[in-house]
Amino acid sequence: MTRAAIYTRISLDTEGEALGVARQQQDCRDLAARDGLDVVAVFTDNDTGASTRSRKKARPQYADMLRRARDGEFGVIVSYSNSRLTRRPLELEEIITLYERHGVRFVTVVSGNDDLSTADGRMVARIKASVDAAEVERTAERVARKHLESAREGKPVAGTRPFGWQPGGRELDAKEAKLIRDAAADIIAGVGTYAIAKRWNDAGVTTSTGRPWQGHVLARMMKSPRLAGWRIHQGKVAIGRDGQPVRGQWEPVLDQTTHDAVVAALSPEDNRSRVPRKNARHYLLTGTLRCGLCGAVMYGNAAKYPTYGCSGNGHTVAASVAPVDALVTEVVLRWLADRAVETPKLEFDGAARLAEVEGDIARLMASFTARELSAEVVFPAVAQLEGQRDELRSQQRRMEAAGARPDLTTVDRATWDRMSVDERRAVVETLLAAVLVRPATRKGNQFDPDRIEFVWHDIPAAEDMA
Ligand SMILES: [Zn+2]
Repeated sequence: MTRAAIYTRISLDTEGEALGVARQQQDCRDLAARDGLDVVAVFTDNDTGASTRSRKKARPQYADMLRRARDGEFGVIVSYSNSRLTRRPLELEEIITLYERHGVRFVTVVSGNDDLSTADGRMVARIKASVDAAEVERTAERVARKHLESAREGKPVAGTRPFGWQPGGRELDAKEAKLIRDAAADIIAGVGTYAIAKRWNDAGVTTSTGRPWQGHVLARMMKSPRLAGWRIHQGKVAIGRDGQPVRGQWEPVLDQTTHDAVVAALSPEDNRSRVPRKNARHYLLTGTLRCGLCGAVMYGNAAKYPTYGCSGNGHTVAASVAPVDALVTEVVLRWLADRAVETPKLEFDGAARLAEVEGDIARLMASFTARELSAEVVFPAVAQLEGQRDELRSQQRRMEAAGARPDLTTVDRATWDRMSVDERRAVVETLLAAVLVRPATRKGNQFDPDRIEFVWHDIPAAEDMA
């Protein structure tokens, strides 16, 4: 009897999930028995996802089978269909070569037997293989459509369980959700993701696939809009048929405001500055200190002698951190000591402007999507608007952070010394709309306090209110 091998391939999306390996194998055995073949070997590859993406995926059993066929271990290969055996025309050429050089035939249960010893037979086999290849492409499209559909419906992404949620991705996992919320608070407070990853690893917390955490992995997870309840498709928030971003069918772990703050804290650079954002947290006056020439926010810059600076707007204005902080602190404490003040209720007054900026961004992006405006026009404008938007949002966050508003009646030198930088910032921001820094006019490094100008909020004194 002629010796034969059976080849089966597990593939979820070519011929339907019903076509299991067991059935493929049974059909192949029946065919072998009918043709009087002696089955001496069975090869099976797990190739779930026969899409364009997985085409390069190695099929170790297939390779092994070809090698053993060349060695003469069997003269016939039995498979369920052409598409089970070869996934693209090039692979058919291997089979043809196998026949031409070693006389190995292949037969299938459903695709008919192409006589590779004739030119016609090879032609037919090649056409079938290219039809199969087209089917693989169509399958890839079908799969892509299916994924898009499920994205538009806001279904959780199938597959790996997202960290923070229970299997299925809809209900929160209480323990992991708490870890994420704590991490968010830490990140907003300036803690790096590497430190958090280390802490989690030390505590035995792994990713949902059981791996140790790495800083960049944790950062990527924390930045994902999924945490705030948005469905992601191909790396971006999915857009529904109505043109709106799609909410996921799951419980968010962070509210939008917190998540925005996390993303801002993790952004590698600020829109208006190359200074890493995390540095911004260490300085008393970030957000309050503004360039006297252009009005841009001045950022603290960690160096041997840290400075606040504005650069990149065609000029350089800089001032040493220590004397500026000391001056502002002194002015603030004296101002408070001289007055009995009510803690003012600060309302975020940029809501209208924020909505306008957000609307402008959306409109620009819509024009770009509709190809009315080119990328060169849209993206610089959008980047600039996003800078404004982020600035407004961070103002809003600061003002809406309940409890962050200090009770000014209790602030004196003693309490000031016990305050954290964030608490001090809250005091400064409550009193001062801005602190302007004018360019230096004197030569040398000595600090010139005349360069600093204070812009106060309008805060009624307590006696005026009585
Ligand atoms: Zn400037």
